[in-house]
Amino acid sequence: MTVFSAPDFDGHEHVVFGHDAETGLRAIIAVHNTHLGPGVGGCRMWDYADDVAALRDALRLSQGMTYKSALAGLPFGGGKSVILGDARTEKTPELMRAMGRFVESLKGRYIAAEDVGMTVADMDEMAKVTTHVTGTSKTSGNPSPYTAYGVLRGIEAAVEHRFQRNDGIDGIQVAVQGLGSVGFDLARRLHERGAVLHVADINVEAVTRAADTFGATPVNTHEVHAADVDVFAPCALGAVINDQTVGELRARIVAGSANNQLAEDRHGSELMARGVLYAPDYVINAGGIIEIAHGPDFGGDHDDARIYAHLDRIHDTLSEIFQRADSEQAATNAVADRMAEERFRPAA
Ligand code: NAD
Repeated sequence: MTVFSAPDFDGHEHVVFGHDAETGLRAIIAVHNTHLGPGVGGCRMWDYADDVAALRDALRLSQGMTYKSALAGLPFGGGKSVILGDARTEKTPELMRAMGRFVESLKGRYIAAEDVGMTVADMDEMAKVTTHVTGTSKTSGNPSPYTAYGVLRGIEAAVEHRFQRNDGIDGIQVAVQGLGSVGFDLARRLHERGAVLHVADINVEAVTRAADTFGATPVNTHEVHAADVDVFAPCALGAVINDQTVGELRARIVAGSANNQLAEDRHGSELMARGVLYAPDYVINAGGIIEIAHGPDFGGDHDDARIYAHLDRIHDTLSEIFQRADSEQAATNAVADRMAEERFRPAA
């Protein structure tokens, strides 16, 4: 296995491999860039097919966090850690403490947050041996409402730009894919502002609830991306914009909370070529990390007024991205990447 020539290596500052013989911990911490602050990002426990897949995840996800925090205007860099193993069968408090010691060894250059396969109790266990952890039971809240509000503001920015209207989203047709923690709250907020909802979820109960509560029209999960609406809001899976779906979209806007919505970067250009305005996922879904940044782990008081004011900036950042994309005739995801790089790469 190589690191420096790995396809996902992007000049990462640290890529550290940790092993603890007693607990069997095998983990990787990747810190992509700390120009704006410590690398903050999730700790993921996953049963990877092999070490290369784990390294790839750590490299890719830590890089993504640098871009996300930079455009969210946070004093954070990008980091991510992965524990190799099955979270359902291999996780023990001892393993979590071993991971905590591994995090501690980076002396604050990396701050771990909850991610796939981890719970608040796991973060508590890590916090027994390191202070460089966030999302413990002392500090954590539920980030989903903040994420949903950020997505709402992003949709508003996209509607203003695409349809040249500044009177809100009353009457705008939105197809929400995924009615989980974020998607359902987003649906509520959209409904409150007069949007007309079309919803899809593999969980039939959530769909029925949205239909009963918001008058939403249920849509087949296989067809929701092609719904005849103004906005398609992916709030479930990654890679929903791919070679197959991109030509089937009828919405003029794609804006939702899901991570990694584009199967590949080139699908951003495909969307542009087809006249679809894409709100880059890591910009519009930054509400969760914005909330964390205002919490006690980072010296904040979790003041809702301040958090919501910060979330409103997602609207402004996206408006700037849309304008630049128009004037440069470039894809919005490419413009977002460049704007982030302008912030986190020190001027030569
Ligand atoms: P969640 O697990 O609560 O909800 C996901 C929903 O999608 C579930 O209701 C699930 O049944 C549904 N779903 C799964 N497969 C589906 C399919 N094929 N078609 C339609 N629906 C399907 O997750 P969440 O916290 O609401 O997050 C949603 C997305 O937003 C994820 O991609 C997540 O990574 C991203 N995100 C979430 C946050 C946050 O604060 N929770 C922050 C940033 C990004």
